[in-house]
Amino acid sequence: MKTIIVIGAGIGGLSAAALLAAKGHNVTVIERNERAGGKMNEFRQNGFRFDTGPSLMTMPFILADLFKSCGKDLVDYLNLIPLDLLCRYHYADGTVFNCYSDTEKTLQEIRRIAPEDADAYVGFLSYSKNIYERTAGSFLENPLYSFSDFSNLNFFDLLKIDALTTVSKRIDRVFHSDYMRMFFKRFTTYNGSSPYLAPATLNVIPHVELTLGGYYLSGGLYSLASALVRLGTDLGVKYHYNETVKNITGKNRTVHGIITGSGEEIACNVVFSNSDAAETYSHLLSGPMADKAMRRKVEKAEPSCSGFVLLLGTDRIFDSLGHHTIFYSGDYRREFDDLFVHKRPSEDPTIYVANTSHTETGHAPAGMSNLFVLVNAPYLTNQSDWESEKDDYASLIIRQLENRGLKGLGDSIRVKSIITPAEFYEKYRSNRGSIYGTSSNDRLSAFRRPSNKARNINGLYLTGGSTHPGGGIPLTVLSARHAVTLFQRDFE
Ligand SMILES: Cc1cc2nc3c(=O)[nH]c(=O)nc-3n(C[C@H](O)[C@H](O)[C@H](O)COP(=O)(O)OP(=O)(O)OC[C@H]3O[C@@H](n4cnc5c(N)ncnc54)[C@H](O)[C@@H]3O)c2cc1C
Repeated sequence: MKTIIVIGAGIGGLSAAALLAAKGHNVTVIERNERAGGKMNEFRQNGFRFDTGPSLMTMPFILADLFKSCGKDLVDYLNLIPLDLLCRYHYADGTVFNCYSDTEKTLQEIRRIAPEDADAYVGFLSYSKNIYERTAGSFLENPLYSFSDFSNLNFFDLLKIDALTTVSKRIDRVFHSDYMRMFFKRFTTYNGSSPYLAPATLNVIPHVELTLGGYYLSGGLYSLASALVRLGTDLGVKYHYNETVKNITGKNRTVHGIITGSGEEIACNVVFSNSDAAETYSHLLSGPMADKAMRRKVEKAEPSCSGFVLLLGTDRIFDSLGHHTIFYSGDYRREFDDLFVHKRPSEDPTIYVANTSHTETGHAPAGMSNLFVLVNAPYLTNQSDWESEKDDYASLIIRQLENRGLKGLGDSIRVKSIITPAEFYEKYRSNRGSIYGTSSNDRLSAFRRPSNKARNINGLYLTGGSTHPGGGIPLTVLSARHAVTLFQRDFE
């Protein structure tokens, strides 16, 4: 049995810790913040409760599988609520489109706003499913580390996953209406990329939400972080909060332990780092343990976009909001050029609002709402100055929501908190504030993500959204699974 340190209590770290403890290892998680969850977190004030990170759960079978591998049953830890209305979309011209988990109900909506695209909708879902079936086993569920992993890739399948064109070009060829074009292009943002740059393979994401389903977790998405901590505790994992790991130590490229911010040296044979891969290779490994080639690689990779978050406790309920609501920008192309080409916040951003008090009244006082407002933001560059810009940007977003039908929003605010891209770095050490690891803005980026095991350092494994297979809750859980598989290949 090994003594294992897990650096960071994000979803990847918590999942890996539970899997390792279930196999009888002695596991300690060290987290720099006061509680677990990382980017999946929560905020409470004056009777309002907010998730501050994820708001939509997909592919719950990956999570169920994690609990099963730990000898437990997901339903004893979490209550998943399937969403009937997946999301309500408001377009700039005032058109409203409700997207349901029931395809027939969605088709009725499409026949109302874009009848010319109804047949294409059904065809596109089966195209998306086809990409999923060709990539799930060979890419997502494959650690892609050793020769034998790569030999499991079916190159015939890879030719059929639409990697040679972009998300946007494929969608423009299939759909006629701007409504459906914008609707399908937004899914690329689920891994922080641009539909105008990313390969059309990412058109797999609509299948994941529209066919496999979108879920809410009773109590809020943060219940998942709490459930994973409880799972780990039940299996014997120990958690240390408010403690930063400063260095991974070792000799002859073999891990011997870690040093904390308070100078404590803790010996261990194995480290699982859930700190961003860029942070791990650039800051946690130094001196004889430094891996210069990997450091260059992670620093060169383009991060995913970041996010600008407003948490608004309002003294009223807005009828135009569902549980999830999108207000599209007037110029979608320009918004992505701002984010990924000019790397500046958009002046006309697409605005996403999650309103969990719509589903759970306890998340806001009676007759009030807890609005989580998110717009995509560029990752941090030398020109970022969120400290001086954040209040003006928050006011711009609130004004735009008022213009889009949330009358009196500004005056209704009783609680207000802002999270900027700079804070995603300061708080969670996310590479340049990115919220989904690296972007998928070029054809090969999915294959260039750091592996779940360090190639040049014995005893170091990596988990989290910045590693293979990528960001978002389900993929992050898979990253933990891969890291543990690679560890088992080495030690069991
Ligand atoms: C605003 C927002 C909205 C999102 N929406 C969704 C969504 O709807 N659905 C979805 O599936 N995903 C969503 N995501 C993405 C999802 O949150 C992430 O992919 C996932 O939570 C990342 O988990 P992770 O394992 O990479 O860990 P992280 O969340 O990055 O956590 C890493 C942890 O390690 C700690 N740490 C780092 N360095 C050290 C160190 N040196 N010492 C000690 N501790 C350290 C950090 O403090 C942190 O707690 C969203 C993210 C954000 C921010």
